[in-house]
Amino acid sequence: MTEPSELAARAAEKHVVVIGGGIGGLIAARECAKVGMRVTVLEASDAVGGAIRRAELDGVALDAGAESFATRGGHVRALLAELGIDDRVVAPAPGGAWLAGVPGIGAAPLPVGGLLGIPANPFQDDVRRIIGWSGAWRAYLDRVRPPLTIGHEHSLGKLVSTRMGDKVRDRLVAPVTTGVYSASPSDIDVEIAAPGLNAALTRTGSLSGAVAALRDEGAARAAAKKPGAAVEGLDGGMTVLVDALLADLENFRVEVRTASPVRAIARDGDGWIVVTDTPVDPASEDAADSDDEVVAVAEEWQADAVVVAVDERTARALLADAVPALMSTDDVPAPEIEIVTLLLDAPALDPAPRGTGVLTVPGSHVAKALTHSTAKWEWVRRAAGGRHVVRVSFGAQGEPAATAGLDDGAAADLALREASALLGVDLAPSALVAAHRARYVQAQPASVIGSAERRAAARSAVQAVPGLAAVGAWLAGTGLAQVIPDATEETDRLRRTLIWE
Ligand SMILES: Cc1cc2nc3c(=O)[nH]c(=O)nc-3n(C[C@H](O)[C@H](O)[C@H](O)COP(=O)(O)OP(=O)(O)OC[C@H]3O[C@@H](n4cnc5c(N)ncnc54)[C@H](O)[C@@H]3O)c2cc1C
Repeated sequence: MTEPSELAARAAEKHVVVIGGGIGGLIAARECAKVGMRVTVLEASDAVGGAIRRAELDGVALDAGAESFATRGGHVRALLAELGIDDRVVAPAPGGAWLAGVPGIGAAPLPVGGLLGIPANPFQDDVRRIIGWSGAWRAYLDRVRPPLTIGHEHSLGKLVSTRMGDKVRDRLVAPVTTGVYSASPSDIDVEIAAPGLNAALTRTGSLSGAVAALRDEGAARAAAKKPGAAVEGLDGGMTVLVDALLADLENFRVEVRTASPVRAIARDGDGWIVVTDTPVDPASEDAADSDDEVVAVAEEWQADAVVVAVDERTARALLADAVPALMSTDDVPAPEIEIVTLLLDAPALDPAPRGTGVLTVPGSHVAKALTHSTAKWEWVRRAAGGRHVVRVSFGAQGEPAATAGLDDGAAADLALREASALLGVDLAPSALVAAHRARYVQAQPASVIGSAERRAAARSAVQAVPGLAAVGAWLAGTGLAQVIPDATEETDRLRRTLIWE
């Protein structure tokens, strides 16, 4: 039997390079460092955190990217407890969201009691208000029509329009899938986005009946467990988690290098060579000695193992030689979205006229969704000191962000006009105290049709290469509740192969 001291000695001999300092990379680094491995994190940008990013507006520190986590599975909570910051967990305000761009009526509260926007009862007042009487009667046909072959429909959009009509699909379901997944209902896989819905449809004979059955089961499960919100946040923002992870990595003596974009990875015997482009300080000797403008020098890192924790396109490009099966980057879906955060001096928003935020009927507005952060999070309200924080998001799968070609000032102006329209309140340019704009490449959501097979194929190709692991949202699915446990598991697999083999 191998002695624990021998295993610890083996671990201490290993050097792991983690490429990418988003949440996936930070988790991977911590898991390797925990068992005594030497770890280096190489992050391209000036700060770690990736999609968890801080914005500072007039001295108020806010989340510019991810602002919450799904409580599902309890994985994020468990990590927060390990890091000693679970006392900062907060729940969002209970007020619901609104829907804007509804033909004929403009805006209305999002109906309650549906599933992905599919109503359990098309005649419910808040549903009928949005789809009208004709839409409600069309949706009711679902109750009287036989299920036919519907039990096997993959596309959410097709399932909903066949059973309940286009109005339910376009006005109720599309705003939810665009706002939550940045994808159209037709691209969403029913089985992944709403597990059990198809089976319940066959059982109950209708889609609305299936929604009601699943909601009842969900309510029964929730009643049996402790009550709580489906998402939670952190007092001070999700960047509190990144700060805590960084402090922990420092305790484990992990080297974290920012401004170090990795340009290549190559096999070197049993190990790896990782090449970064390190920017050159214009005042340095290297820059002074050169006649040309030196912007970066190559630096090499030797490693026993590599964890690739970047976005899908970059990962496929970096791994093209080591994992030929990943070579194609042509068809990598990567919706680019932009979030413009506005700090507003606008007392008209005090009563939170549209609850905690607004989703839009696709095609009705250039913005996709809006979060009224000071209405949603008590800690943001306190931090904003009587002013309001509103986040406006632009862009979705197959549709570039309307702000993409604009400079920061013009993007802020557009976001302010959209906020005014979505919130139904006149927001004059003088109300704008400060604005922040951030751009993100989103991973393809796990619930998009075909995504599960793509991810499984990529993962098994990576796992076949000794000393290599890949983590992050493109493999785990979008969201911290997916990325964190997946990165933990995948790194554990790598760790075991490094110590035992
Ligand atoms: C605007 C927005 C809001 C979101 N809101 C939520 C939310 O409220 N709740 C939730 O659970 N999830 C949310 N998500 C999703 C969640 O944030 C992501 O799924 C998760 O953070 C992805 O982590 P990651 O480590 O896979 O990737 P990333 O966070 O993208 O990290 C990848 C890192 O790799 C670096 N990198 C790229 N190329 C290189 C290179 N060549 N060399 C070195 N480094 C490189 C990047 O700079 C980046 O830091 C949101 C996402 C976005 C974009």
